[in-house]
Amino acid sequence: MADMSQGRKNVASGGTQAPAEQTTSGSRGLNFDEPLIFELGEDGRSGIDLAEVEISGNRLGGLERKAPVGLPGLSEPHVVRHYTRLSQKNYGIDSGFYPLGSCTMKHNPRINEKIARMQGLGDLHPMQPGSTVQGALEVIDTLAHWLKTLTNMPAIAMSPAAGAHGELCGMMAISAAIKARGEDRTRVLVPESAHGTNPATAAACGFTVDSIPANDQGRVDLEAFKAKLGPDVAGIMLTNPNTCGLFENDIIEIADAMHEAGGYFYCDGANLNAICGRVRPGDLGIDCMHINLHKTFSTPHGGGGPGAGPTVLSEALAAYAPVPFVVHDADGFRLIENPDDTDASPFGRLKGYHGQMGMFTRALAFMMSHGSDGLAQASGDAVLNANYLRVQLQDVLSISFDGLCMHEALFDDRFLKDTGVSTLDFAKAMIDEGFHPMTMYFPLVVHGALLMEPTESESKETLDLYVQTLRALAARAKSGDAQFFTEAPRFTPRRRLDETAAARKPVLRLNPAAE
Ligand SMILES: *Cc1c(COP(=O)(O)O)cnc(C)c1O
Repeated sequence: MADMSQGRKNVASGGTQAPAEQTTSGSRGLNFDEPLIFELGEDGRSGIDLAEVEISGNRLGGLERKAPVGLPGLSEPHVVRHYTRLSQKNYGIDSGFYPLGSCTMKHNPRINEKIARMQGLGDLHPMQPGSTVQGALEVIDTLAHWLKTLTNMPAIAMSPAAGAHGELCGMMAISAAIKARGEDRTRVLVPESAHGTNPATAAACGFTVDSIPANDQGRVDLEAFKAKLGPDVAGIMLTNPNTCGLFENDIIEIADAMHEAGGYFYCDGANLNAICGRVRPGDLGIDCMHINLHKTFSTPHGGGGPGAGPTVLSEALAAYAPVPFVVHDADGFRLIENPDDTDASPFGRLKGYHGQMGMFTRALAFMMSHGSDGLAQASGDAVLNANYLRVQLQDVLSISFDGLCMHEALFDDRFLKDTGVSTLDFAKAMIDEGFHPMTMYFPLVVHGALLMEPTESESKETLDLYVQTLRALAARAKSGDAQFFTEAPRFTPRRRLDETAAARKPVLRLNPAAE
């Protein structure tokens, strides 16, 4: 008979609980105080009874375990409850509004999941012979075709596993192209509003990062940019629309000036959701751009699988695209795996196998189910929703830049001046109201940033409740009730954590018996 007891032990895992809210069990309502699975486990318990195995001889050549590995002993109901409870603690786009700016937390349509699990797609192995995976190679090739079409770019690398990995792909292609020209260019220009991955990628590729200031409109300062051009400049990494949610109006002039100076234009395509089906980045003069399938094309961020960051390349960089890539000829679809099997000069390989197949099927399902008109409507609705938030909130929060925004609205903390409430405190109070906070303190070009990206998925009712909540919170902050904010959140499993200590001195309990 399985042991159905809760098996919970009180574990103080950080954070403070106000005395009035303490309970005997350590749980509050259906908010369980969930220990680690190792703390739940007990010797002698197991989920399934297996017959004793008779060890006959030395089958692992002396590599057999000398001691038990210390796996927790748990019955099946223990395991099911533990993981079900953990899953309920995880706030996701399926639980509620998630306006995390820059991350494009849109609904992941279930049709994508159905397609990804189809027999023949869901159970592929990357080492299957090409003749047995012609359909899968066609999926990769078709997705590649539509990504190139949407961006008006001639080439694509499908293997990068995330946006940041796509940046690495693009910057390695730029590096290879510069080397092939026999030049030595060491400096990469990065606007100060850039996502942290941009300077990190440039540095990882051996370039020095030179920061370009923003103008008072939140865009690249064109004159400052031009003043930095020179024969040692390898390129620019520019996000468009940028991380302030603004279209870079001078982007064509920036591209032309960069090309004239002999450098390349890396466009960070993380914000493609604002312009997809409306603006083709290839028409703006870019040389390469990653596309976060988990942002624009609705594949899950994390939980449902890895990300994917296919990277489109211009004619100038196409030859350096990494292996593998799919070619289509009279014999069907074929993967070029080896740099020697191609006339091009791939800079190498970015990862094992061909990319994230599960993400490719989901992204292609999203594209095909929307069609070109649907994709354009999605980006239009994303921009409309962001502007709705901007207009509904700009008289109570402080909007950073006037005028229309793209898919996200940027506010800063001027509205909290002299209230004793910080952006962080404000965000914690939003959690008590059931909203995932917006992105905070990014981009760095404004003080105490609050970056809100509603995406196209949200209804007017959701946005209205969010607006009503934020207006009430702003009024409360301005009324002098700072304590309400500094003590938030109140209704979460853990109260305010010391985030610095959690990062600097993490307490990693693996085996409580060893403590
Ligand atoms: C999300 C994001 C990235 C990084 O993409 P990942 O897929 O998270 O690696 C880069 N730049 C910007 C502007 C982003 O929003």
